[in-house]
Amino acid sequence: MISVLMIAAGQVWAAYGKFPPPVAPYSTKSLNTARVKMPIIFPLIGGNNYSDDFNAHRSGHRHTGIDIKAPKMTAIVAPFKGTFGNKVHSFWIYGDYGWKCLGTHLNDDTPGTNDGKNNFDFMFAPNLNFGDHVEAGQLIGYVGNSGDATGPHLHFEMYSPVGIRDPYPSLQHAMHISSPSRIIRNLNEKPEHKEERYEVCKRNWIHLGGSFYGILLAKQYDTGRVITVKHPSFVTFSFAQDLVEKLDIDSWPTNRPASIYFRREGEKVVVTKVVPPDN
Ligand SMILES: [Zn+2]
Repeated sequence: MISVLMIAAGQVWAAYGKFPPPVAPYSTKSLNTARVKMPIIFPLIGGNNYSDDFNAHRSGHRHTGIDIKAPKMTAIVAPFKGTFGNKVHSFWIYGDYGWKCLGTHLNDDTPGTNDGKNNFDFMFAPNLNFGDHVEAGQLIGYVGNSGDATGPHLHFEMYSPVGIRDPYPSLQHAMHISSPSRIIRNLNEKPEHKEERYEVCKRNWIHLGGSFYGILLAKQYDTGRVITVKHPSFVTFSFAQDLVEKLDIDSWPTNRPASIYFRREGEKVVVTKVVPPDN
């Protein structure tokens, strides 16, 4: 029996490689309530409210994080830089400086519904892969009420290098940002005069007619100014046939953005250049 359990545990670890999710203690015993403060970016953008409900009694255990209430689809950002991991409805970050965090109940519904369809484009940022390095403030995903949540909120846990800690003091002193960090490739390859650039992750693509459908990550204007998205936004482009022949769009990964440069000519959008995603 013991050997069976050990194999099962080994499989769990193998599935998450070097970055298994941090596991909170599940017991009625009091958690460590030391008021340790870690400099972080507040994990949500926009209106929210929370109180210090860390260590609160729940049926059969203590509450192991802080519940930050916010409307569904509120953007969640990385509180600090580190390595990203996720499984359905939850994410965690192994911070470069030894702390970890975990957030759960991410959105699993089509916006405006309660359908539980689990479309990842409404749960996580379109460009995230397990094991990616994320920057502080980078878009991670969206608030929801998945799992056993009674209303939309982010259940947020923090771990010092020696164990779980109350996130409240860090949240109280956190830096609030108004849009996600400017994650854009080749920032210097800005659009030319009157051009715009969209960073777009492929979602669908029809070779005949060059119809490209994707999800927006960031925009850049000819001034160099970058705007990052904080809500899922789908875009379509028509690529000219000579461009289609040069680009092997079938092979593009869906979680890395392509750069699409274009001009607006009246009502028309004319694609001028496309830089394929990094693999
Ligand atoms: Zn909670």
